[in-house]
Amino acid sequence: MSGLATPLTKHFGVLRLDTVRSKILVFALLVTLIPSGLTSWISYSQNRRALEEKISQELLSSSSQAAREMDVWLKERLYDLRVFASSYEVSERLARKRPGAVTERLNDYLNSVRERFNEYEELVVLDGHGRPVATSGTPQGTLRLPPGWAKELSANNAVVGAASWDPSLGKGTLVVAVPVQRGEGRTLGALAARLSLRGAEKGLRAFAPRRGQVYLLTIAGTVIASSAESSAELMKATVKPRSLNRLKSREGLVVTYESVGGADVVGSLKRVPRAKWAVVSEIDADAAYGQIRRFRYVTLLLVSALLLGVGLIAYRLGVLIVRPLERLTKGAAEVAEGDLAVDLPAAQGEVGELTAVFNHMVGRLRQGRQELDAMNDKLRRQNEELERLSTSDALTGLHNRRYLTQRLSEELVRSYRHKGTFSVLMADVDEFKEYNDAFGHPAGDEVLKKVAAILLNSTRSMDCTARYGGEEFAVLLTGTAGDVAHEVAERIRARVEATKFAGRKITLSIGIAEFPDHGQTADEVISSADEALYAAKRGGRNRVVRAGEKSVKTKRTS
Ligand code: GH3
Ligand code: MG
Ligand code: MG
Repeated sequence: MSGLATPLTKHFGVLRLDTVRSKILVFALLVTLIPSGLTSWISYSQNRRALEEKISQELLSSSSQAAREMDVWLKERLYDLRVFASSYEVSERLARKRPGAVTERLNDYLNSVRERFNEYEELVVLDGHGRPVATSGTPQGTLRLPPGWAKELSANNAVVGAASWDPSLGKGTLVVAVPVQRGEGRTLGALAARLSLRGAEKGLRAFAPRRGQVYLLTIAGTVIASSAESSAELMKATVKPRSLNRLKSREGLVVTYESVGGADVVGSLKRVPRAKWAVVSEIDADAAYGQIRRFRYVTLLLVSALLLGVGLIAYRLGVLIVRPLERLTKGAAEVAEGDLAVDLPAAQGEVGELTAVFNHMVGRLRQGRQELDAMNDKLRRQNEELERLSTSDALTGLHNRRYLTQRLSEELVRSYRHKGTFSVLMADVDEFKEYNDAFGHPAGDEVLKKVAAILLNSTRSMDCTARYGGEEFAVLLTGTAGDVAHEVAERIRARVEATKFAGRKITLSIGIAEFPDHGQTADEVISSADEALYAAKRGGRNRVVRAGEKSVKTKRTS
């Protein structure tokens, strides 16, 4: 099975029984094929049997009736001949030693008989040695008795000779003879006749089967007469020995054999008791079984059409069932790939329920994914906030010291690479402890906030302004050094001094250091700025001091 199935399945995927579609198709075809095939087979064989019975009945009846008819025909002809032979003219002539006028009279008698009975083509009276003594035709006559006629004549009281085609008459003839006897039973000679076979042919035709033939044969198989048109050829024809044996061995039954003309026929043989003859009645096999063959074709056609119709319906049904399953498989694969937008169209029946469950499942997954996304979003925002909080100062909103340290190290790397520069300002609120003591801590906080705002407003966005600790601030001025940095610091200082605070005036002391002049590392630059800040404090506060200076450049205005 598998040997056949493998190459076939390559071309016809439907033959693979592992799919639902092919199972439905095969099931439907089997369910159709088994009952319809069985019914057709039973009906076909019943029809065939009935037809065969009808044919054999027809053939058997035809052959036996034709055989009887031939027997009667021959019996009547011999009877006629015996009547003619019993005539005084015939025995008178044969008894006489000197013929003369008697022969003339006998010739006339024979001629008058022949004229009255047209089946007798020629009548001849023969003496005891077989010599013709009188004839209805030419003086010598053409009629010859078969060898050993005398013996047959005494044994059977008649001779039935061979049949032959008479070209001058254009018909088949048969030689028969009866004895001529005297009153006391002594045989003087014979009366022989050449019989026309037209009568026999007519008799055969009367009993020929429909669409068939009847042949009158010698027991050796040579054709004597037939229901068909008689001819010289036909009279020379014989039935092949094999066919003849079949027919003879099953006399009274129907057999299939090869006919005189070579065609395949079905027929039946029946012997003619009076002579060594037989009658064969036959029908062309094609004609006989044509009806059965037609019935078989129609049956096959009907079953095929039925199979085709059922096959198509089953295939369509298979597609209807399988399509939602295929959609489910594809949908599941898409979900597995991470695509949760899958939403399958609704289907009927069990597959429909499965589809609904699948859609529900995907819906839940989608919802879960959305919740997860929202959660992630929130976490990300919280992380950002945390990040911001970890790098900023809660009171002033400025960056914290940690962030400033980080920015400083980045700036240091960049400045090294590009041989650039930057400055750090360290600013400290002057005598803040006193302010706190005098106006309270909350008022001190307000001061810090205001100072932070001034610092922010006085620097660029790329600079980094941070609360370094307590009332101490640091500013990183990127790419800035020297007088420019000093100007920025001075502007800050002046703005703080000019700003109105609750209670009293507030001032800043600022120290400046720059890379690389006042330090090679971030810590070094910071501590240089710190030193400058202390120098500013020592120099009397509310002033800007650059690293390396000793509070020389005071900008104190008050
Ligand atoms: P100097 O001019 O030498 O800097 O004198 P000073 O009083 O400012 O310096 P000191 O270091 O003695 O005092 C710093 C004060 O800053 C002490 C503390 O109470 C105050 N301070 C630090 N952080 C805060 C804060 O967050 N809020 C308030 N209101 N005060 C603060
Ligand atoms: Mg301080
Ligand atoms: Mg201070």
